[in-house]
Amino acid sequence: MAEAFPSDDKPKSSEDDEETKPEENGETSTSADGDEENREKHFCNVHTTEELCRYCRDCQKTLCMKCLADEHQEPNHWVQTLEEVEPWARQRLRDHIGQMKAKTEELEVYKAQLQKRQEDLEKWKEEACAQVDRDVENIITMVKQARDEAVKRYYLKLLQDALNSREDDVKEPDLD
Ligand SMILES: [Zn+2]
Ligand SMILES: [Zn+2]
Repeated sequence: MAEAFPSDDKPKSSEDDEETKPEENGETSTSADGDEENREKHFCNVHTTEELCRYCRDCQKTLCMKCLADEHQEPNHWVQTLEEVEPWARQRLRDHIGQMKAKTEELEVYKAQLQKRQEDLEKWKEEACAQVDRDVENIITMVKQARDEAVKRYYLKLLQDALNSREDDVKEPDLD
């Protein structure tokens, strides 16, 4: 009977302990504990009720306590808390952002080159079209000139024939 009471008392005493824990007080301060409270909680994909709280540097994986116990035991795995790993992760993120910026600049240069090339092609196309128009105009002019020449020659021939036939008409009565 006496053993039942201490087990009832235990949760009460732990609750009392939590109320006076420095973590609780940290919530009102601007310390890292305050950020910790506001941080979005992420849960393990495998152990879906377990919060992710460790990072294995060797496997590059975030872990819950069950993952840690199952597969990522030290010394074979270099495991750190998320707080410990944060500066390294931030630096890695900064490096990635730097690389992305460099890539973006490269792409901007490439884009400018493509735009220049497109403008050149557009200019070349306009010049080529203008040249074709000039060639077509020249051909039309030449054909018109050739037609005028042909018409002129045709009328000259008609005129010549008419003159010849009249000469014949004039001569004929003289013969009679
Ligand atoms: Zn897990
Ligand atoms: Zn690991």
